[in-house]
Amino acid sequence: MLRQRLIRSMDRHGKALGPRGRVLVCQLPLAVMLAGIVMAAPAAWPGLPDSILCRYAFALQAALLVACVLVPWQRFGPLAPLVIPVLDLVAIGLLRDGTTAGLPDPGVLSVLPVVWISASRLSAAASLSLSFSVPLLAALPWLLADRSAPLAARTAEALLVPLMMLAVSLAMRFARARLRREQRRIRSKEAELEVLLADSRERERLLNTILDTVDVGIVAVDASGRRLLTNTWQADLEESAAAAPRPTAEPAGEVLPEEEGRLVLTGQDRSTPLPLERRPIRRALAGESFADYLVCFGEAAASRVVSTGARPLKNDAGDFRGAVVVFNEVTGLVDALAAKDEVVSTVSHEFRTPLTSIIGNLDLVLADTEGLDSPVVRRVEVAQRNAERLLALVSDLLMSASAAVHVHPRRTDLAGIVEASLGSAQAHAHASRVCLATDVQGPLWAHVDPLRISQALDNLVSNAIKYSPDGGSVRVSASSGDGLVRLHVEDTGMGMTAADAGRVFTRFFRSPAVRDGSIPGAGLGLSITKAIVEGHGGSISCRTSPGHGSTFTLELPA
Ligand code: ADP
Repeated sequence: MLRQRLIRSMDRHGKALGPRGRVLVCQLPLAVMLAGIVMAAPAAWPGLPDSILCRYAFALQAALLVACVLVPWQRFGPLAPLVIPVLDLVAIGLLRDGTTAGLPDPGVLSVLPVVWISASRLSAAASLSLSFSVPLLAALPWLLADRSAPLAARTAEALLVPLMMLAVSLAMRFARARLRREQRRIRSKEAELEVLLADSRERERLLNTILDTVDVGIVAVDASGRRLLTNTWQADLEESAAAAPRPTAEPAGEVLPEEEGRLVLTGQDRSTPLPLERRPIRRALAGESFADYLVCFGEAAASRVVSTGARPLKNDAGDFRGAVVVFNEVTGLVDALAAKDEVVSTVSHEFRTPLTSIIGNLDLVLADTEGLDSPVVRRVEVAQRNAERLLALVSDLLMSASAAVHVHPRRTDLAGIVEASLGSAQAHAHASRVCLATDVQGPLWAHVDPLRISQALDNLVSNAIKYSPDGGSVRVSASSGDGLVRLHVEDTGMGMTAADAGRVFTRFFRSPAVRDGSIPGAGLGLSITKAIVEGHGGSISCRTSPGHGSTFTLELPA
């Protein structure tokens, strides 16, 4: 990078000087040296002015300096200024005659014009031959004039400087070739970089367009909570939820991401302020990865329910470098669900009273059937059965519409509950040609709400019978360990596909096989069972395969 800058600055300065300035700058070092010799001559080499050759040398040098300034070099070709260093070599050759007056051999000064020639655009062959031949020829008059030294010594002296200049010129050519290669490499790298830069700008524009087009909010933060990115959707959401500045209960020394700190955020009830550590970006910064986390932005009436999700950003070494948090508004959906639950619970509630009255009256009729024809009794029984089914359905609807299942756990013998549940399912099992069995040995203690767990077990046993349309067997077994009691309800019925099993605890879900058949149901039993079990801090799971039955397992605190 530094070298690249150096080359650029040299180019710039060269261009700024202009051709005349450049020639003058190249000539100046030699001119200064020779001027120094002239000035020092009277004191240091008094015999120097006696040498005709030296006088020619100084005159030539002075003429060259004037030429550098006066000649309009730009009018001639780029090689024209080379006449100056060539004539410099001639001047130096003539000056060598000064050695007889005690001047140290000035042949070494030839290095200045040789560097000039070698650095020019002249071909390698021409610059090498000039660098060798001109110093050699220019020294001839001096050699021929001095007859005191032996011929061999003079020849050696005459060859030494040209050979040195040849070496200097060669070295310059190599350096120049290397520099050229380097320049080419740098230029091609620069071109590559420019392409990459343009590419990355293009990608950035594309990414920004995508981010601003999508209908979700996206925020990226670094490990210290500094925002790296906030798309337009999110900026609008935050704008609508921005609170007037107010003091936060932030613990001293902690830094809440600025943007999130000034937002009014509440929980799903739209009124309880969300604690700082439960805010989505704060959770993401704590390294949590989550999805479908509902929070409300803004004050109660105008609050917007947003489903949030976060993923941590990690570097190659797996260190936490920040997080990306996504915000998806679900206000409409949540409001629609709440309205639906409201309708369901109101309607169910209104149905219950007349239904209870119908069942009560039918019970009274069936309690005393004397005097009634048996077809009438059968019809009343059918009406009673259906009214009871309707009441069960209404109860399920009411329960599934209520927000939470309330449980009152106490020490309970599960063996008794299993026995009672199987007892009440006996008639249904008999009618469906299903054989019921259990190996649960009493007492089997658990910390549960007996009413709720009976309801859950009844649901599982009645499903096991209902979904064994060709008969078969249903077995309830139990196991315990790790502070948990497990109840398994296993049937040999129709079973389900893995995809169905994954959705079986969702409200109103019924498998396609069941929906197409004639088995009645509303798809609420398992979701209620799950809510009951989770209300105890337990869990429910299902293992099944089509045609090979199903096993539902309840895990409850012992
Ligand atoms: P419902 O039985 O009223 O449809 P549930 O919530 O109890 O509602 O069950 C949901 C769905 O799960 C059922 O419709 C059925 O497709 C499937 N399912 C439940 N239990 C079993 C089982 N033991 N064997 C096969 N499928 C079952």
